[in-house]
Amino acid sequence: MKHPDVIIVGAGIIGCTTAFELAKRGQKTPTIDKVYDAGAGSTINSCAIVRAHYSTYDGVALAYEGFKYWADWEDYLGAADERGLARFINCGTILLKTEGHNWRRVRELYRELGVEHEDWDIEMLKKKMPIYSTGKFWPTSRPEDGDTFFKEATEELPGAIYTPGSGYVSDPQLATHNVMRATEKVGGEFLFNAEVVEIRRDGNTVSGVTLADGTKIDAPVVVNAAGPHSFVINRMAGVEQGMNIKTRALRHEAHHTPSPEGFDFEADGMHTSDGDNGIYFRPETGNSILVGSEDPECDDQEWIENPDEFDREVTEAQWRAQVYRLAKRIPDLPIPKQARGIVDLYDVSDDWLAIYDRSGLDGFYMAVGTSGHEFKNAPPVGYLMSELIDRVENGQDHDHDPVRYNAVYTGFELNVGCYSRKREINPDSSFSVNG
Ligand SMILES: Cc1cc2nc3c(=O)[nH]c(=O)nc-3n(C[C@H](O)[C@H](O)[C@H](O)COP(=O)(O)OP(=O)(O)OC[C@H]3O[C@@H](n4cnc5c(N)ncnc54)[C@H](O)[C@@H]3O)c2cc1C
Repeated sequence: MKHPDVIIVGAGIIGCTTAFELAKRGQKTPTIDKVYDAGAGSTINSCAIVRAHYSTYDGVALAYEGFKYWADWEDYLGAADERGLARFINCGTILLKTEGHNWRRVRELYRELGVEHEDWDIEMLKKKMPIYSTGKFWPTSRPEDGDTFFKEATEELPGAIYTPGSGYVSDPQLATHNVMRATEKVGGEFLFNAEVVEIRRDGNTVSGVTLADGTKIDAPVVVNAAGPHSFVINRMAGVEQGMNIKTRALRHEAHHTPSPEGFDFEADGMHTSDGDNGIYFRPETGNSILVGSEDPECDDQEWIENPDEFDREVTEAQWRAQVYRLAKRIPDLPIPKQARGIVDLYDVSDDWLAIYDRSGLDGFYMAVGTSGHEFKNAPPVGYLMSELIDRVENGQDHDHDPVRYNAVYTGFELNVGCYSRKREINPDSSFSVNG
C-alpha cells in the first residue's frame, strides 16, 4: 500500500474493528501482525461473552451498544467470508445477586440506560435454572482452604438479574476474520508474519514503523492495538511515562466441564456470573460448560514480563479451584478426570478499564488495556477509535476537551475522555474482569 494514512499494530478483534471503521471513512489502513492470521493472538482464546453488567455508566452504555452490533452482525459487516460468519448465541445472562457483585449498581444502570432486564426472586431463579444451588457461598475461597470451601450453604441468595439480550459469540477468531474480510472490501490491507520492532518519530510526531525484516512503513498515524503486547509497543514509542494508567499482561485460565447428566446446558443453559464463587460460566459446544475466573482476591495473579513466553498449560490447582467452584453452584456437575481448558493473556490496565486514547506522541494512538472484557465491545470500540482519530487529527484538543459523540445504534452520548491514559484510577471499577 502506497502512502498509508493509518498503520494499525495488531490484527486482533480490536485492531480489526478499528481498521474497518477507518477504512469505511476512506483512510488507507495497513494492519500489521506478527502472527499468521487475524484474531490469532489472545482473541483466539476469548470466551467471547457478550453481557452488559459493568460497574460504570460508560461500561454499561458501551456494552449495550455492542449488543446491537452482534445481533446485527451480517449487516454490520456488509461482506461475505469464505469461512462463514461467526454466530451470536443469544442465550441470555444470569447475574446472581451475590456479595461478590455490585448488582444493585448494575440494576440502577440498567434502569437508567434502558437495558432490557428482569429482576428475578429466588423462586424464579429456581424455576429457570433448576440445576443451580441457590445457596450463598460468600466469601470466595479455594479448595485448599478445606472446610471453609466445602461447607454447606446455610442461606439463600436474594435472586438474580436476567438480561435476555446477552450471550456469546460462537468463534471469536472467526468473528475477527469476518471483520478483516469486511475491511478488505472497503480497501483495508493486512500484513501477517510481520513484526513491528520500532515506532519511528520525527520530533514529537510519529512517522511510521519498522518491521523485523528492516522494512520501513511511513504514516502520519499509528495505532497500538497489540493486546497483551501493548506495553511493549508503548515503550517502543516512548509514551509510557506520560500515562497515568498503564498496562501489563496477566495470565488467565478458563476450563471445560461436561454438563450435568440429563441437562442440555448447550441448548438450555445461560451465561451466568457468580460473584460468590468468583466465576463466570457459559454454554459451550459439545453440551459442555466453559468456566472462567472473576479474579477473586484469594487467587494469585500471575503477571507476565514477556508476553511471548508464558506457560500455556492448564494448571491442576486453578482447574480444580474453578471446576469445584462451579460444582458448588451446579451440585450435579460431573467432575472430569482430566483437566481441560485454555490459557492466554489479558492486557490489564491499572484500574481494569480500557485505554482508548491518543498519546503524548502526536499521531500515536492506543486501543489497549482491554482487561479481559473487551471482545464484546470491539465493534463499538472500532467506531470510537475512528471518531477519536478523526477529531484529534482535525485539531480537537482531546486531553482538555474530550471527544464526545452519539453511539450508532443506541444514540447514547459517549465520552471518550473516560478512557483517557491521564485519568485517575476509577474507584467505581470492579478491578476485575467485570470491568
Ligand atoms: C481467556 C480469555 C477469556 C476472555 N473472555 C472474554 C469474554 O468472555 N468476553 C469479552 O468481552 N472479552 C473476553 N476476553 C477479552 C478479550 O478477548 C480481549 O479484550 C480481546 O480479544 C483483545 O483483543 P486485542 O485485539 O486487543 O488483542 P489480541 O487479540 O491479542 O491482538 C493483538 C495482536 O497484536 C499482535 N502483536 C503484538 N505485538 C506485535 C508486534 N510487535 N508486531 C506486530 N503485531 C504484534 C499480536 O500478534 C496479536 O495478534 C477474554 C480474554 C482471554 C485471554
